[in-house]
Amino acid sequence: ENKKIFLIFGNPVSHSKSPLMHNYFFKKENINACYGRYLLTNGNEIISKFKELKINGANVTVPHKEWAYKEADEVRGIAKKIGAVNTLVNENGKIIGYNTDAEGFLEVIKEFNYKKVLIIGAGGTAKALSFVLPKANILNRSEERLKDFQEKVTFTWNNINNFDYDLIINTTSAGLNDDNLPAPAIILEKLFKKARYAVDVIYGKETPFLKLAKKYNLITKSGIDMLVYQGVMAMEYFLGKKLNRKKVAEIYFEILKG
Ligand code: NDP
Repeated sequence: ENKKIFLIFGNPVSHSKSPLMHNYFFKKENINACYGRYLLTNGNEIISKFKELKINGANVTVPHKEWAYKEADEVRGIAKKIGAVNTLVNENGKIIGYNTDAEGFLEVIKEFNYKKVLIIGAGGTAKALSFVLPKANILNRSEERLKDFQEKVTFTWNNINNFDYDLIINTTSAGLNDDNLPAPAIILEKLFKKARYAVDVIYGKETPFLKLAKKYNLITKSGIDMLVYQGVMAMEYFLGKKLNRKKVAEIYFEILKG
């Protein structure tokens, strides 16, 4: 069988962990395939490049996910609602787009027993997650971006009046390059007193948000889990078959932990 070729399109793309993860998986599973990086400047060329390079599949990262959505021959699943595609697969010459960021996130919290969800942040990640968690409320620092969540219950730090949630998700970049919490401690403490689970989308460090959640004995997941599961779901699409997701996730965790 011919060697299968995959890559990640992005700009920048050198920081991406996807080549490390997927190449390690191919090696472990003896799959004749490789996974590279492609620095793409013009997002509108993403599908023509895909076809020109004759690859089998690709991931898409910032800032090209909306272009991948617009240019794909067909978009399937939750990606249609989100308007962003992070996984492209060649299916008999047609390039199909999926969004495994959102699907992977659901996989991360699959074993949680939750009903009421609060998403902190109102950017791109919050929007994507709000499509797979349609009943979630939103808390954001400022008013402006809450316009994008008109059909949702939304709060700012100044007017939040509901602190009763099972699951709190940080989608802001607070804590990424600083020691900030995504909302004032007094608000988070009230939330954590009632909640059972906290998830942060940031990876590479334990954020102040997760540190505080652990102080309140919450069950936590970090951005690493989300990164791993978007990869697992992408691999299912790449190979065109269901995988033992937990087993594949173990492989990805193994290489990411180094
Ligand atoms: P955006 O820039 O679209 O949104 C940023 C949001 O964060 C806004 O709501 C903003 O509030 C809020 N914010 C920023 N700084 C602070 C702060 N100091 N305190 C409180 N709120 C703050 O970001 P994205 O949604 O694209 O990405 C957010 C994070 O998600 C990044 O850290 C990124 O690394 C991570 N990510 C992780 C993934 C994974 O696989 N683990 C996948 C995708 C993203 P305001 O409106 O008031 O400005």
